[in-house]
Amino acid sequence: MPFPSDLTGVLTGDKLLQLFEYAKQEGFAIPAVNCVSSSAVNSVLEAAAKTQNPVIIQVSQGGGHFFCGKGVKDDAATRAASVAGSVAMAHHVRAVAGMYKVPIVIHSDHCAKKLLPWFDGMLAADEEYFKKNGEPLFSSHMLDLSEETDPENIEICEKYLKKMAPMKLWLEMEIGITGGVEDGVDNSGVTKDKLYTSPEQVYAVYEKLSPVCPYFSIAAAFGNVHGVYKPGNVKLSPELLVGHQEHAAAKSGKAKPLFLVFHGGSGSTPDEIKIAVGAGVIKMNIDTDTQWAYWDGLRKFEAANRGYLQGQIGNPDGDDKPNKSKYDPRVWLRKAEETMTTRTEQAFADLLCNNELSK
Ligand SMILES: [Zn+2]
Repeated sequence: MPFPSDLTGVLTGDKLLQLFEYAKQEGFAIPAVNCVSSSAVNSVLEAAAKTQNPVIIQVSQGGGHFFCGKGVKDDAATRAASVAGSVAMAHHVRAVAGMYKVPIVIHSDHCAKKLLPWFDGMLAADEEYFKKNGEPLFSSHMLDLSEETDPENIEICEKYLKKMAPMKLWLEMEIGITGGVEDGVDNSGVTKDKLYTSPEQVYAVYEKLSPVCPYFSIAAAFGNVHGVYKPGNVKLSPELLVGHQEHAAAKSGKAKPLFLVFHGGSGSTPDEIKIAVGAGVIKMNIDTDTQWAYWDGLRKFEAANRGYLQGQIGNPDGDDKPNKSKYDPRVWLRKAEETMTTRTEQAFADLLCNNELSK
């Protein structure tokens, strides 16, 4: 099936649903790359444009705070700075989207219970944008209440989905725990059984949320871990996702009813990704690897030009030679962008998302 030609620019609502359905049917997942600056956003959009693929730009609460400016205190009761920064990033994406000519999804990452004020603030921005434009500012948001009991997790998700449904705003939820450490949330000590979600747990979510609307996806745990670690005693088992999908299909009578999301995929093998995508994973989060890539470009530039970066004037070519062409941030930040773009291009290939727009 050719790529739907009406899926252009920032996608929300039924267009986003259409994109995820297309990905599930065609067997690819879309990289969702965490960004903390306009420079990172542009690096990711550049990779999407180069490879002619849809892409997901995502912001975490900490990333949103950074986008606002770390000099501004983020009040814990309102998370006003995180909200302002996340909203700013969404507006930046919308402002430049047309220049890249690819379908773009704007998403917010993990939101634990204690961060709900951040979520509420973004929803308020969505509602305001919806009143003027007939669609929300963001395409989707994630609620991660996996630290709570399952009934509470699912109940809160249902409550929020009902609030989001009139705007056709997508909800990603997590059940079972992704191990490791990300953005200040430390799950490195959780017990092993919590790192594997059961098919019954996943179906309980589907059963509760599907009567509300079709705009939701599930991040189930299958031994996935945030960050890159030495191989440990938890084994990545993407074949569990196949079981979740089959269980949900048998129970609901619908073929492949679940939209699944892959968290903590850094360092996973092409075979593991292939199994996950085949099971209905339509989005995979990328953070750790692109963080390294962004730094790596800068690291190499600094190492190659160290003698030119020790003062404004004076370098190996002469004591009176100027160094502006090296320390101009457009030069060294661009090096970080180039390697982040290259790493994101690789992510597309890994997720079997290849030149989709020309299909
Ligand atoms: Zn995650």
